[in-house]
Amino acid sequence: AFEGLAERLQGTMQRIKGKGKVTEADVKEMMREVRFALIEADVNLKVVKEFVKKVSERAVGTDVMKSLTPGQQVIKIVKDELTDLMGGEESPLQFAKKPPTVIMMVGLQGAGKTTTSGKLANVLRKKYNRKPLLVAADIYRPAAIQQLETIGKQLSLPVFSMGTDVSPVEIVRQALEKSKEDLNDVIIIDTAGRLHVDEDLMQELKDIRTIKEPDEVFLVVDSMTGQDAVNVAQQFNETVGITGVVLTKLDGDTRGGAALSIRSVAEKPIKFVGMGEKMDALEPFHPERMASRILGMGDMMSLIEKAQANVDEEKAKEMEEKFRTQTFTFDDFVEQLQQVKKMGPLEDILKMLPGAGKIKGLENAKVDEKQMGRVEAIIYSMTPAEKTNPEIISSSRKKRIATGSGTSIQEVNRLLKQFDEMKKMMKQMSGMTQKGKKKMKMP
Ligand code: GDP
Ligand code: MG
Repeated sequence: AFEGLAERLQGTMQRIKGKGKVTEADVKEMMREVRFALIEADVNLKVVKEFVKKVSERAVGTDVMKSLTPGQQVIKIVKDELTDLMGGEESPLQFAKKPPTVIMMVGLQGAGKTTTSGKLANVLRKKYNRKPLLVAADIYRPAAIQQLETIGKQLSLPVFSMGTDVSPVEIVRQALEKSKEDLNDVIIIDTAGRLHVDEDLMQELKDIRTIKEPDEVFLVVDSMTGQDAVNVAQQFNETVGITGVVLTKLDGDTRGGAALSIRSVAEKPIKFVGMGEKMDALEPFHPERMASRILGMGDMMSLIEKAQANVDEEKAKEMEEKFRTQTFTFDDFVEQLQQVKKMGPLEDILKMLPGAGKIKGLENAKVDEKQMGRVEAIIYSMTPAEKTNPEIISSSRKKRIATGSGTSIQEVNRLLKQFDEMKKMMKQMSGMTQKGKKKMKMP
């Protein structure tokens, strides 16, 4: 399982909090966490090294050490730099001045070339109002031509094929003629792949390029291949030449580190990401979203901002004091609940948490919110005396509270038990800090 950078930095942050001042050694430690997080996300080692160096420089330069929230500051710098490194913003599709626009799909076998050809044609028709023609130039596997034809049928888009006996170069030449006849303004060439990069494959791709210079040559890369994807990108870029990258299978469990590595090694923009097997599962690449994914922090930044905007510092201090002196009552409990509620629907908050995307059944969050309402109702049905001294709540009082709040005696019991446990925990915690303080004072 991945551990996000946000979680990683937590430990460091805790220690720093206790010290009250951030030293250069602390920043160094944070950088170590950044490094681990990126390596875990499968980012190329060389890329990680350069990146961490850059972030360190910025971290020292931007007063992280003077900041009250150094950990968050570092996360923000890292995210900004990652976003920057991946191109900053979306990279648009290139079209020919004089149609047809030629788009060539290259990559290893199984990367997703044929599937992506179909998806891309679909995008071109839907979003760009174009009339694409799919070209079957993978002549080595009869099944590959069939696969493209099936996709074409599914999308009601034309597929040009000449079987397996004609050379890819000839197929492309004739496809161009055909596109002029049928007024197709884009042709998408689905080429063959190999299990490994080899001479023959590269030569064939170069030959196809000579017919008409493509406007885009997209390298299709399986994001699950991680580190390997970098070598593949480098080789394709050096031999055939590519204009952009499509990263497929991002709907899987990958952390997306390949995106960062490819971008910095091949220096070519990532244009699209594949998010599933279906024909509508192709999205423009968003560098910022990918940065979040690599860091495994979901929408951590917006969550932090949200929390900061809503939690009243004075109130927080007051609560802490109440915890410490164990004068925390049910009234305070309700107030805490309301603080949480002010941040917005629980469901939305949960979605912003790292890894929450993978949690099945987030619907349960809705139940929790309903639960919160019931808890509040129970507390509102208590008398002031009961709220401050829950010990006095007898069976008959419980019955009255349950009826008044429209809940059950069991629910009242559960809440009382939870409250009791919470108090016990507070007692233990403050006991620990008391002990800690005593220890500190010892010579
Ligand atoms: P090619 O050999 O490069 O042409 O690869 P294909 O297009 O035949 O795809 C290989 C397999 O990967 C197929 O089973 C596709 O359905 C699957 N695939 C392609 N793109 C994606 C994607 O974005 N997500 C998922 N989950 N599967 C994909
Ligand atoms: Mg194929």
